[in-house]
Amino acid sequence: MIELSRLSMDYRIGDESVNVLDDLNLSVEAGERVAIVGPSGSGKTTLLLLLAGLEACRRGDIRINGVALGDLDADGLADLRRDHIGIVFQSFHLVPSLTALDNVALPLEIAGRSEARLRARAMLAEVGLETRGRHYPSQLSGGEQQRVAIARALVHEPSLLLADEPTGNLDAHTGERISRLLFDLQSRIGTTLVLVTHDNSIARRCDRVLRLHDGQLSDGEVGGGDALSR
Ligand code: ADP
Ligand code: MG
Repeated sequence: MIELSRLSMDYRIGDESVNVLDDLNLSVEAGERVAIVGPSGSGKTTLLLLLAGLEACRRGDIRINGVALGDLDADGLADLRRDHIGIVFQSFHLVPSLTALDNVALPLEIAGRSEARLRARAMLAEVGLETRGRHYPSQLSGGEQQRVAIARALVHEPSLLLADEPTGNLDAHTGERISRLLFDLQSRIGTTLVLVTHDNSIARRCDRVLRLHDGQLSDGEVGGGDALSR
């Protein structure tokens, strides 16, 4: 499903460069759930952005479903995301001017799929928000907004779900509910999951935990404070 080989990434601002990922390798099987942990600033978000084709790597190769992202132009990357990838961000990133229902329907409408609103309504019900379809994001709690974001990320049943600290802005109880919901939907849809988290209870639900440190991934542990510490 995912093959990263010898991936390197740096950000350049003026004549300064920040090396973030350094010769990193990773393969993820279809349907696998992989948690990425690591200190703040270690490049976890950067890695997800590269997987989504939202940033271009400096060196190395990224393959999703056998397709090399480096071979795709901006339109090709947009098509790949539209058809195969769902993304959940820590800070929800809902469209403020659209209702919950329209936020969820958006990926289907962009893809020109039929019955977008009907499917979006069913997905909203799956995240327990059938009575909130007409609310705007500002009229929803943080946990509700994240449920809308999860519904939006999964409504087109992507083969790959990327989640960046999906419970990072939520209290522990709400985070636990969101986490359970995410994994329930993940297993129903059978989507491959790569998620970044500081939350032990989320990492524990994954098949593998990897730690990003000094630009490289290594086997991480759940439970010990160290693996998940910021
Ligand atoms: P994490 O998600 O693990 O906290 P990030 O991937 O957000 O880490 O950032 C990794 C490093 O790259 C940090 O040192 C950050 O300052 C730097 N960085 C992230 N995005 C940019 C950017 N757009 N331009 C320049 N530097 C960036
Ligand atoms: Mg981050």
